[in-house]
Amino acid sequence: MIPFIDLDKQYISIKKEIDNAIQNVISQSAYIQGPFVKTFEENFSQKLGIKHCIGVASGTDALTITLKALNIGIGDEVITAANTFIATSEAITINGAKVIFVDNDEYFGINTKLIEEKINSKTKAIIPVHLYGQSVDIIKIQEICRKYNLLLIEDCAQSHFATYNNQYTGTFGDAAIYSFYPGKNLGAYGDGGAIITNQDSLAHKIRMYCNHGSPEKHVHLIEGTNSRLDGIQAAILSIKMKYIDVWNQKRFEAAAKYIKNLSKCNNIILPQIRPLSSHVFHLFVIRCQNREKLQKYLLENNIQTGIHYAKALPFLDCYQHYNHKTSEFPMAFKNQDELLSLPIYPEISDEQIEKVCDTIMKFYSL
Ligand SMILES: *Cc1c(COP(=O)(O)O)cnc(C)c1O
Repeated sequence: MIPFIDLDKQYISIKKEIDNAIQNVISQSAYIQGPFVKTFEENFSQKLGIKHCIGVASGTDALTITLKALNIGIGDEVITAANTFIATSEAITINGAKVIFVDNDEYFGINTKLIEEKINSKTKAIIPVHLYGQSVDIIKIQEICRKYNLLLIEDCAQSHFATYNNQYTGTFGDAAIYSFYPGKNLGAYGDGGAIITNQDSLAHKIRMYCNHGSPEKHVHLIEGTNSRLDGIQAAILSIKMKYIDVWNQKRFEAAAKYIKNLSKCNNIILPQIRPLSSHVFHLFVIRCQNREKLQKYLLENNIQTGIHYAKALPFLDCYQHYNHKTSEFPMAFKNQDELLSLPIYPEISDEQIEKVCDTIMKFYSL
């Protein structure tokens, strides 16, 4: 079986270091906050060249809390992509704001040409998503945000250390959020997330909010919540930070092999690299004919694949009250039936990639 993702292979490759790291946290009973979280936050922000990193309980919390700390709520509108994971839009609506969807471009990022027509006096922020591991046209979005005085929050849950114009995604906006869900490029062994920002007062507010509004013991300046990265996850992430560049490079090399092997296949369209963008291939997503049958055939041949995403956000049951029409988001609508994610991870072997490619070619020659 070629799994869609193989977390065990990665664990085995660094087992000793990981086991030691976990043992250290337990020996010191540093489960919540404490030195391991602090060290990871410093590692992460230093690599990105950003002043503040606040570890939180998940990527979803990171989004929700960032919007809350930026006072986005009832009466406000926030623009985001029609094709992303639901966490992005949930964070907007859970704060009481209205989500405004924008269709994607040919690189699966938010189509920057369609953003300005959605801006009005209620618009407060844009949340671009660097989907599948590739930056959106972030400089253009930065320009739009400056022109209309909007907040820019980057969703980097799928783009750890991807760059645009040699600058890390996550460093272009007012704040950025990360997920350390186990399957992400930098994944913990449970839920985890982070918020990064250069703004001192925003960082202070977020840190306080994540810990019951408490800047110090027995003081609660505001009501907050409990959303903290725990020590074991932070210790694991600090170990994994040593390897993330190599792992991202290996994902890129795996993608290059897929692209080389599949370039002859006329029934699929391969992912394209956006100019100025470095792709960290969180997912390797092809556009293909006869998607359902291809996926079934691959599974019959012991190859697992994924679909990201089976329904674009505007068409989900929970957003039916917006009455969106499929014609409003033609690209996202088309994606639903055509996209297929092939197995990709740093540890995938050449033989595995070749088998996936051969099986796809065989399917179309039947
Ligand atoms: C995974 C993901 C999230 C949410 O992260 P969790 O840690 O699972 O809560 C948010 N946005 C995008 C684009 C994601 O892929």
